[in-house]
Amino acid sequence: MLGKESVTSPVYLRLSVTDRCNLLCRYCRTDAQNLTAPGLPDEAMLRIVSAMARLVSIRKLRLTGGEPLVRVGLPALVRKLRGLLPKAELAMTTNGTLLHAAAATLRDHGLDTVNISLDTTHPARFAHLTGGGQLDAVLAGVQAARRAGFERIKLNAVLLRSLRDEQLSDLVRFAAWCGCELRFLELMPIGAGALIYARERVPADEALAELRRAFGHPAELPRSSNSRRYRFDVDGTAATVGFIAPVSYPFCTGCDRLRLDARGRLYPCLRSTEAWDLAPYPSDCHSDLKVRIGLRAAMSRKNAIQATQRVWPARSMAATGG
Ligand code: SAM
Repeated sequence: MLGKESVTSPVYLRLSVTDRCNLLCRYCRTDAQNLTAPGLPDEAMLRIVSAMARLVSIRKLRLTGGEPLVRVGLPALVRKLRGLLPKAELAMTTNGTLLHAAAATLRDHGLDTVNISLDTTHPARFAHLTGGGQLDAVLAGVQAARRAGFERIKLNAVLLRSLRDEQLSDLVRFAAWCGCELRFLELMPIGAGALIYARERVPADEALAELRRAFGHPAELPRSSNSRRYRFDVDGTAATVGFIAPVSYPFCTGCDRLRLDARGRLYPCLRSTEAWDLAPYPSDCHSDLKVRIGLRAAMSRKNAIQATQRVWPARSMAATGG
């Protein structure tokens, strides 16, 4: 049986609180991949997380989706998770469009850090890429997050060839101006990303070389778990830029991420085609056992995937919990 004593290292749980999203990013999902799971009710989600926390140490929990902020009552869920996991880092990944109104409350309720997805600072291109999203709303969300005093705010941008010229330099300037770490993510051939991958993919090394041409030689910073990081001098202001390169430089070794989707299925890896249903039965008496069996299976499968899995699933990031 899986007991805390049998687990050597803590895990990082990514929790999809809904797979619905108010944007339709071209590299994420298509119209046809419309997602409808509102997310498990708070009580069911908390029951799974607390059963997991009795078996493994959860060092970090990230709320994601879909778009986590379209879930009604998210701050209350954050407060309950904070109570359940007082020592874990509580993080959220968001597209930022609804953050303006929610940032201060989320911070008050115990959210520690926030990652905001922002691929371009050009309003028309932003609208085109996101299926009609308003750049101003995201910029207001970034400002509100800064005012709310999160421990860390990061900006995430997917590298896309059609955006590249403006995307790289403008986003680095924006990051320098707002003092947020910027991370460029390689496009993955997953979900709708597979449809545009051949023409849109930019390897991280190519983007780094271009930034060197634009801003000069950067100082290399300590790596984070999945990104190489650099400090560029942007007209006298420091900009910290990371590169997450799951295609060029897969970071499976040492990966401790587990993903619980909006229906309560546990994925050992973004690329996994297998998942374990942990959603509690209505009558409940076996839910801890279900979590124990699913968690044990997912963790042992994770090691096998790291050694063998070479395919990307058609399922979108939004469906798994990005
Ligand atoms: N709605 C939230 C957001 O936009 O940040 C959270 C969910 S979203 C699926 C999480 C992250 O996945 C975003 O930063 C998005 O850019 C990224 N993403 C989605 N599809 C991707 C793909 N094919 N390749 C690389 N990143 C992708």
